[in-house]
Amino acid sequence: MVAPMRSEKIQRFETLVSSARTRQLSNIASGFLNQCLKFGRALLPQACQLCGAECADGPLCAPCTEDLPWLPPARCAVCAVPLTSGEICGACLDRPPRFDRAEAVFSYRFPVDALIHAYKYGGRLALARPLGEALAQHVARDVDVIVPMPLARGRLAERGFNQALEIARVAANITGIALLPRACRKVADTPPQAALPWNERPKNVRRVFVCDADLEGKRVAVVDDVLTTGATLNEIARVLRKAGAASVRGWVIARTVPR
Ligand SMILES: [Zn+2]
Ligand SMILES: [Zn+2]
Repeated sequence: MVAPMRSEKIQRFETLVSSARTRQLSNIASGFLNQCLKFGRALLPQACQLCGAECADGPLCAPCTEDLPWLPPARCAVCAVPLTSGEICGACLDRPPRFDRAEAVFSYRFPVDALIHAYKYGGRLALARPLGEALAQHVARDVDVIVPMPLARGRLAERGFNQALEIARVAANITGIALLPRACRKVADTPPQAALPWNERPKNVRRVFVCDADLEGKRVAVVDDVLTTGATLNEIARVLRKAGAASVRGWVIARTVPR
């Protein structure tokens, strides 16, 4: 079932806003129209971001949520990579990472990859809620504080929000665990990890994080959207441990799964 009422109304309004933009209305006028559009979106029932069905309680309907690529339960106890046998993968046995373990909800496959992309780059901020809820429901809550993976200032200015922080806010609200949004900073604007070959990723993130908080004895969960090689999580774990953290765990939405 589609949601014609909602999409027609919103589409008409979106056309109005974009035509106002092309007619170069004053900033004040187009700002006002944008606010109206936000208000309209909030009032009308939402359409599922995947199938278009009307759903009252969030951007994804129940059947689409059920069909998501949930990470299989047989996985490495440290890095969460799916395993067919054993408890810890060869890579983690050879070179144990500095984080204690990573907990992930989904495999980074369609449509989760597309959802994360729409959330990060398409301005679909409403997706922070279902992603944060899924995270909160799938992680062990025996940690003391939640730290979002920081973004460098340049990237933050470009994107307008830190995707990890918005997910962390939702998870902190649900779990009641304290969120430390400014405990860590990323002080160097590095190329995105995804743009680099795997063997260059550790070097790309070396010494890019600074932790200003006193984390003495704290069990820390670092929230991030995607885990691939674990190089970024490994580096922030090093910095958090230097700040006193007793343990560092990764809480991630999706884990890439080698073919
Ligand atoms: Zn759906
Ligand atoms: Zn592993």
